[in-house]
Amino acid sequence: MTTFTEALSRVLERALPLPPRTVPLAEALGLAAAEAILAPEPVPPFTNSAMDGFAVRAGDCAGAVRLPVLGEIPAGQPGSPPLGPGAAYRIMTGAVLPAGADTVVPVEEATAGPGWVELRGPLRRGAHVRLAGEDIPGGGLVLPRGRILRPAEIGVLAAIGCAQVPARPRVRVAVITTGDELVEAGVRPGPGQIRDANIHSLAAQVRAAGGVPVCFPRVPDRREAVVAALDQALAGADLVLTNGGISVGDFDYIKQVLEQLGAEQVFWRVAQKPGGPLGLWQLRGKLVFGIPGNPVAAMLMVEEFVRPALLRMMGFPHLHRPERTGLMLVPWRRNSADGRLILLRVATRPRGQDLLVELTGPQGSGLLSSMMAANALARIPPDTQAIPAGGEVLLHLIDQPEDH
Ligand code: AMP
Ligand code: MG
Repeated sequence: MTTFTEALSRVLERALPLPPRTVPLAEALGLAAAEAILAPEPVPPFTNSAMDGFAVRAGDCAGAVRLPVLGEIPAGQPGSPPLGPGAAYRIMTGAVLPAGADTVVPVEEATAGPGWVELRGPLRRGAHVRLAGEDIPGGGLVLPRGRILRPAEIGVLAAIGCAQVPARPRVRVAVITTGDELVEAGVRPGPGQIRDANIHSLAAQVRAAGGVPVCFPRVPDRREAVVAALDQALAGADLVLTNGGISVGDFDYIKQVLEQLGAEQVFWRVAQKPGGPLGLWQLRGKLVFGIPGNPVAAMLMVEEFVRPALLRMMGFPHLHRPERTGLMLVPWRRNSADGRLILLRVATRPRGQDLLVELTGPQGSGLLSSMMAANALARIPPDTQAIPAGGEVLLHLIDQPEDH
């Protein structure tokens, strides 16, 4: 069986960044820049007024002074005649500072009448003036490759004239849930049936990671149905998640069908709990995850393996949630010596410098509601048999953004 660490490194080896695209700014939020971006021009492009007031030469205003006002410069006007000594212009915020002027006096600090203004000097030369390029110098680096485009980055790109940006696209992820027992969430299950929870939790996890889920819910446990869903999924998606039918049950067709279609097995079965039957295949140039159907196992596999893969495919610089050491509030003991890595759903809370760790309750891999209380996963190494109360445990903070 493949170890957890080996499985994760094989996932990341295969999950290569998608080819970049040129994306309009309106669609760029949350994507990673595929190239470093330089400013072709300075921002602001011209020296302008930071206030509504009067453009003057500071040297004219050593003390109290009355100056003639030559005219008014609104924002958006290409320019005005230069300002000679001993005069002023009325000027608005964002208007081009006329040649000769070096300082703006806010209207609140001046007394004005028709055609004149009185100022109280001395003035600080350059006050309330925004210099060309003081925000972003022309030719300089604006953002590095891999930078995630947040609202601020998108605004800066617009300011420098990048109406479209080279970025890695969102990963389109086919999500296929399988099982004859499944019905839609909005339907009352008949005898022996349950609602398809995983199509919703998995699609939401894909979306939370920045991907675009394409849902193929409730594929029956029949070989032909699985083949048809996989064919369609591989044609339209960048990556495929199958859910359920990956273990050794009589109606578990995913692995068989993938082999029949000629997929290359990257790994199948991982020495971990939950999620032991996890598998990864490569088919027609695309990765296909076989994720076990137990609802908690399914979510943990997406969290631990699929999410980092999606982030890498989207060119994000950080793939892993923050790791911390926490202190177990109650003792924990392995109940079988099977050499598997164990993922525990835990709730953590800070106390001083420490992070205290409590199990969210029983750890059965079908107990989906326990996921709501979990803000971290504790990762117990295969050779750890027991942890005493107060003992240290490695945590993965799953409610916080990736930091490494
Ligand atoms: P499987 O991996 O197909 O053997 O399924 C393992 C367990 O998870 C079974 O109890 C299934 O009924 C349950 N299960 C599988 N798929 C889903 C799903 N989409 N939603 C909720 N439970 C599921
Ligand atoms: Mg099944």
